[in-house]
Amino acid sequence: IPVTSMCDRAILAANAAKGHYGKSYTYYDDSIRKRLVFEQRITDEMNNALAKNQFKIYLQPKYDLVTERISGAEALVRWIHPELGYMPPGDFIPIFERNGFITELDIFVWDKTCELIAEWKSKTNKLLPVSVNVSRKDIYKDDLPEILINIITKHNLEPKNLHLEITETAYTEDSQQLIDVVTKLKKLGFVIEMDDFGNGYSSLNMLSELPIDILKLDMKFIQTNNKQNNTKNIMSFVIGLAQWMNLLVVAEGVETKEQVEALKKLNCNYVQGYYFARPMIAKKFTEMLLNSEITEMFNIGK
Ligand code: C2E
Ligand code: CA
Ligand code: CA
Repeated sequence: IPVTSMCDRAILAANAAKGHYGKSYTYYDDSIRKRLVFEQRITDEMNNALAKNQFKIYLQPKYDLVTERISGAEALVRWIHPELGYMPPGDFIPIFERNGFITELDIFVWDKTCELIAEWKSKTNKLLPVSVNVSRKDIYKDDLPEILINIITKHNLEPKNLHLEITETAYTEDSQQLIDVVTKLKKLGFVIEMDDFGNGYSSLNMLSELPIDILKLDMKFIQTNNKQNNTKNIMSFVIGLAQWMNLLVVAEGVETKEQVEALKKLNCNYVQGYYFARPMIAKKFTEMLLNSEITEMFNIGK
């Protein structure tokens, strides 16, 4: 191959090793090129995909642990690609976070989610709060509060109907900015959920500085072997801490009856996981909602 291509490939290989400390050499192989070609394809197609409605909102219910009834839901995006088929968010969200498209996609997801909340309100007379994911990139958008308020107003809803999930990774970069933005959103009436709690650094610091309403326990807490006393103790401590701080707790990734029983014993408030329901298309969720009683989420949106 030409020397210029050799150099390109050497650079690709070197870039792929960035951030891996202690690794002083690296090899080029075709997987690196394939990944880049894939990333380029995703980037080339994303705008058209949004315009052509290829992104779909899936919903996963959250259940009240006392009544075992639906109390809320989380909106999760999927890309139904005309050639590649069903694509989970893990395949494209990280790329969109790098190239900046994530905010455009998130705004689309927030808008569609509010449209659904409003639709259920009129069809089923049930006002179910739904949480959406807020990427760390969105936080740095100066007009984020206005964007969210405009969407809420457009659909005749109130900010408390939309919960905002913020991940811990967002906390590490510029925490003051995050605190300011989240405080503003909270003042406007949005309900703030801290996502993936326990899967990062600085969680305890941030817990005291951010105006959070709901703590979402990271899946790893639930999925590590619960028989181990340490995990149990940590879970019980975290849930106790949340209660002491007047926060509601959602456990994510609940897959077994044993996990449900253990969480009930710890007085966890809500669960979200395959044990009760997988994320599903909006139509199916609407049908399910028509045929079920809901339990209102308490103590929030005040
Ligand atoms: P997340 O916000 O932590 O979402 C929870 C993930 O756990 C979802 O994966 C959900 O399908 C999965 N899950 C739920 N219950 C269970 C269970 O019982 N067991 C297991 N093993 N998994 C379960 P999903 O839908 O693939 O989403 C992955 C991540 O992509 C999300 O993690 C979120 O960070 C991101 N994401 C999804 N939709 C959006 C979006 O619209 N905007 C942004 N910015 N990020 C999104
Ligand atoms: Ca989430
Ligand atoms: Ca999560």
